[in-house]
Amino acid sequence: MADAKQTKPRAYDLAIIGAGPAGLAASVYASRYKLSNVVIGPELGGYVSTTHLVEDYLGFETITGMDLANKFSEHAKKFGAELVQEQVSSTSRDGDDWVLKTWTDKEIRARAALLAVGTKHNKIGVPGEDKFEGRGVSYCVTCDAAFFKGKPVVIVGGGDSALKGALHLTEFASHLYVVHRRKDFRAEPTWVDRVKEKKNVTFVLENELVEVQGEQKVTGVKLKRPFEGKDTLEVDGVFIEIGSTPDPTLSKAFGADMDDGQFVLVGDTQRTTAERVWAAGDNTTNSAMFRQIGTASAEGSVAAGDIYEYLNDPKARWSDRGPVSETAPVQRIVTD
Ligand SMILES: Cc1cc2nc3c(=O)[nH]c(=O)nc-3n(C[C@H](O)[C@H](O)[C@H](O)COP(=O)(O)OP(=O)(O)OC[C@H]3O[C@@H](n4cnc5c(N)ncnc54)[C@H](O)[C@@H]3O)c2cc1C
Repeated sequence: MADAKQTKPRAYDLAIIGAGPAGLAASVYASRYKLSNVVIGPELGGYVSTTHLVEDYLGFETITGMDLANKFSEHAKKFGAELVQEQVSSTSRDGDDWVLKTWTDKEIRARAALLAVGTKHNKIGVPGEDKFEGRGVSYCVTCDAAFFKGKPVVIVGGGDSALKGALHLTEFASHLYVVHRRKDFRAEPTWVDRVKEKKNVTFVLENELVEVQGEQKVTGVKLKRPFEGKDTLEVDGVFIEIGSTPDPTLSKAFGADMDDGQFVLVGDTQRTTAERVWAAGDNTTNSAMFRQIGTASAEGSVAAGDIYEYLNDPKARWSDRGPVSETAPVQRIVTD
């Protein structure tokens, strides 16, 4: 009978969970440091792959999200990353190794882990939203805009994602309503101005959706306050872009502490409170200050540098670069 020890798969130096900008940037640096690394994530490029246009990432005046996402993953692959397009479903420890299981029960072992899992889209939480998800309700403009060619739609939100999504939707929809609960937008003014220039847009401000209506599919939305004398908008599609929040499942499984917004607490070099677990990108207390591609990839890069130093210094103590105190106040800049 084979000895169980002999059948163990080899341990990577680093397992990176999440193939967004944070995870892929970390992989590029890890490969440069000659750390064997695997990047595990269902979508190569993370949120970037679902973004219509990116115009604020240095070096690319304008590029589609999909093109930028492809550039990120090709770069990481070329430098030596192994990419596994799956989701990590559980984690445990075996001696010095982190043992990750994917949704197809694949086992991946590593000496260090980087949590770069980003965030999940927020829901409004109104009647009809869940019922019509995928039947008129969407959280991804880039993925679904084309299904609404020549049809009236509504988008909810006032940040960058909502306004950029609105701009994209104007290319397909017969008419677009932008519903936002405030008078002013958090989005970069340039996106607001470009949407305002479009002829097929109506802004419904200081208002909210209270219900998504329909039978088999969406036929309209009910508003909190009447707009132009009516409390419903007749639309075929409802796009929701009201920000996102981290999923705490894996952070908890690793034993990494989070703040009250479920962002993973990290120190200056992205160490978490769990030994040999780093976190980078939108899901951390650092990125919560400014959730963008540039900050996510910067955090991934910083983490990779620290992982290299830590794994190669037998005297390194985890606590020397631990996370900041949970009690430190965090002023978030919300960009989506
Ligand atoms: C619509 C939209 C437009 C945007 N536009 C811009 C822009 O123009 N400029 C800009 O700088 N920023 C923009 N952003 C923000 C930017 O996309 C994010 O800040 C950035 O992608 C964060 O990178 P990340 O690697 O931390 O997370 P993500 O990009 O979210 O990637 C994390 C990945 O981890 C994966 N994952 C989650 N759980 C698991 C698991 N258990 N196992 C394996 N993988 C997992 C997720 O599926 C995801 O693919 C936009 C965001 C949105 C939503």
